[in-house]
Amino acid sequence: MLKKRELKYPLDALEPYYNKETLDIHYNILYQGYIDNTNKTEEKLQKARETNNFENIKCLEKDLSFFGSGVILHELFFDNMGPAIPTSPNIELMEQINKDFGSYERFKTQFTESSKVVEASGWNLLVWVPEFNKLEILQCEKHQNLTLWGCKPLLVLDMWEHSYFLQYKTKRPDYINAFWNIVNWNEVNKRYSKI
Ligand code: MN
Repeated sequence: MLKKRELKYPLDALEPYYNKETLDIHYNILYQGYIDNTNKTEEKLQKARETNNFENIKCLEKDLSFFGSGVILHELFFDNMGPAIPTSPNIELMEQINKDFGSYERFKTQFTESSKVVEASGWNLLVWVPEFNKLEILQCEKHQNLTLWGCKPLLVLDMWEHSYFLQYKTKRPDYINAFWNIVNWNEVNKRYSKI
């Protein structure tokens, strides 16, 4: 059984860039929903194996991918944000960013522009792709589509409307610009050191 992972900061710690009400709903209701639905799906899969009834297997495998990826991405997202204390990529990550994107500014611009055009329900991610031996930026539709297999998510931004609409309405660029103030690069550096 999956359990909700604790938030590493108080619900109002990201103000004014990400308000308490939005984070409260996002963390306590929506993220909890992904945990509950992943657990329910696992229970149904166990029951299918026990009863040897695989009538709904296609739907269950899809649910596992959708809800399970929803859990993983939300945990990465909540953890790669923090109070607006300036942090930055460490030397190793910065060197790789410079190598693969030309400069930090070019990386930031690509990430921002890519985030703006994620289709309604999706994510934008900085990932490490072991097979290519390089960093890439990927969009993600829903929680599970458009990945490169084996990639390691480093920095993720939730572009589902529930993540910004309450506070930013249709002003997606304002939400993305605000996000840069609360990125916790210490967490991203830690993930990069484990690739
Ligand atoms: Mn979300």
